[in-house]
This record gives sequence, C-alpha cells and structure tokens, in this order.
Amino acid sequence: MKERIPVEVDGLELELSNLDKVFYPQTGFTKAEVVDYYTRVSPVMLPHLAGRAVTLKRYPDGVNGEFFFEKECPAFHPDWVETTTVPSRNERGKVTSCVVENLATLVWLANLATLEFHTQLSRKAGEDRPDSLVFDLDPGPPADTLDAAWAALRLKEALADEGLECFPKTSGGKGMHVLVPLNTPLDFKRTKSFAHTMAQELEKTYPDRVTSVMRKELRKGKIFIDWSQNDPHKTTVCAYSLRAGTRPFVSAPVRWEELEEAQRRADAGALAFEAWEVLARVEDAGDLLDPVLKLKQSL
Ligand code: ATP
Ligand code: MN
Repeated sequence: MKERIPVEVDGLELELSNLDKVFYPQTGFTKAEVVDYYTRVSPVMLPHLAGRAVTLKRYPDGVNGEFFFEKECPAFHPDWVETTTVPSRNERGKVTSCVVENLATLVWLANLATLEFHTQLSRKAGEDRPDSLVFDLDPGPPADTLDAAWAALRLKEALADEGLECFPKTSGGKGMHVLVPLNTPLDFKRTKSFAHTMAQELEKTYPDRVTSVMRKELRKGKIFIDWSQNDPHKTTVCAYSLRAGTRPFVSAPVRWEELEEAQRRADAGALAFEAWEVLARVEDAGDLLDPVLKLKQSL
C-alpha cells in the first residue's frame, strides 16, 4: 500500500508519498531529498518561477525511468495551485499550465516527481513581452562545458560593448546559459533578432570556436550560440532547477570570476554544482541572479 504522509505548508494541506524512493541511483538521492532541496532553495527559486507558465519534466521512477514533458497542469491539482492559459503552439488550442506562486505548489510538484522546471521568458503567458533575453550555449563534442564558459565570457564582453550587463548560469547539463535582464517593453521579434546578430558577430570573431548555426555537423568541436530560444513558445530550464542527469546537478547561477577561474585551471568539475553545493552557495551569497529580475535594460 502506498503510504501517504499529510503535511501542511504555509497553512496549505497536501500529501507526500514514496519518499524513500531513490531518484538518482548513482548517488542514492531520494525523492525525500528532492522535496527537501526544493523546499530549501525556494526562497531564491520562487521569484524566478513567479507568474510564469511552467513546463514540468516528471520522472516517476527516477532519472533512469520513463519521463513526461508536461505543459499541462495535472488535472487533479489542489485548488490553491495557480494556473494560467497558454496558447498551444500548433493548434488553435490552449493549455492550462501550472504557475508556481508558493512553496506548497513547489512541494506538491516535487512530490509528483517533477525533477525539472522549465519556464518561458515572458512573465505572462502568451504575452509578447520577454523580461529577459537568453543565450543557450551548447557545446558540440568534443567541445565541453569549459568551452561553453569561454564562449560565455566572450559573449559578456560583446554585450558590454553594447552597454549591456548579463549573468551566467550553468545549464546543469553540458552547457551554459547567459541571461540579459531587460524588464523594459520589448517584444520577441526584437530580442530574437538582437540575439541572432550577437551570435553571428561572435561567430565572425571566433570562427574556429563559435557557430550561430543549429546544424549538428557544423557544431562539431564548437559552441553553438542558440539565439532562437528567444521565442514566446520556447522554454529554458529555470534557475535552481535540478536536472535529471546521473547526479543531482542543478542549473546554478555562477559568478563570471568562477568561469575565469575554471578556465585557468581547466577544471570543468568546478562548473558542475550538485544540490547540496547550491544550497551552501545560496546560504553564502543569496541569489546571484537577482539582477535578472530587477535590472532594467533596453537593447
Ligand atoms: P544543455 O546544457 O545540456 O544543452 P539545456 O537545458 O540547455 O542543457 P537544450 O537541449 O540546449 O538543453 O535546450 C534548451 C532548453 O530548451 C531546455 O532547457 C528546455 O527548457 C528546452 N527544451 C529542450 N528540449 C525540449 C523538448 N524536447 N521539449 C520542450 N522543451 C525543450
Ligand atoms: Mn543548451
């Protein structure tokens, strides 16, 4: 029989189940630890989730099991879970997505084996108003995370020439994400074309190491700067989300100096952060991506 444990989170009632189940066999990280991680990281993660339609990546049997990419908020959600209507991509249809506005919702979703939380760039579903711009830096093997960090640093310099500040996070996978806070009225047409131009510019400056073209055969050994993520329908993994890899790695905010240091030491491991490390870093420095929520910049 499935044991259900009733809990109260900020006055809201929910049930937890299967807490002993191992979700990351390589390290023995359990579902209880997933719920615990999201609870502890919530003070810095919730502001990045707030208002946004969230796409869930659920792994009911852990990282080695089957998974579901869910735009739709599970139909049996408690009435205190906020939802929003998102126009679906191809059909005329609409999808009702969850919006994670509070800790109880985060815990409820973690208990549904949501390991990854993916968000849109627009704070209001369906609105043509990205509040940040993202560059998704993807290494084409044998290029690796250190090459992505190198490209992120070059991108930072190019953006500084445009008078723009930007902030990096690891993807929790192989690459890096660079976020440019906007928080000013701009639409996706503008952000996407700006991102495309920047990617092409870097490709021109560093043709051996960077490409702005998606095609797999062209990225071999290079960093593909994916500018096309600046699209109303696309998502990027949310800051502080776990990833369903071999170990409980997180999409973790980092400092530019840490990218430089990792480069100097040729230490890719320095750019891979597990859940417990991220909690220690947050304890220490708070949310390194706080400016992404607040800083106003125009293109
Ligand atoms: P990596 O560093 O390994 O590339 P990533 O999270 O950047 O990790 P990408 O494959 O580059 O992964 O995709 C970028 C983002 O696009 C993801 O974070 C995710 O939000 C979204 N995405 C990728 N694949 C899918 C998919 N099949 N369906 C929906 N969204 C996706
Ligand atoms: Mn990527």
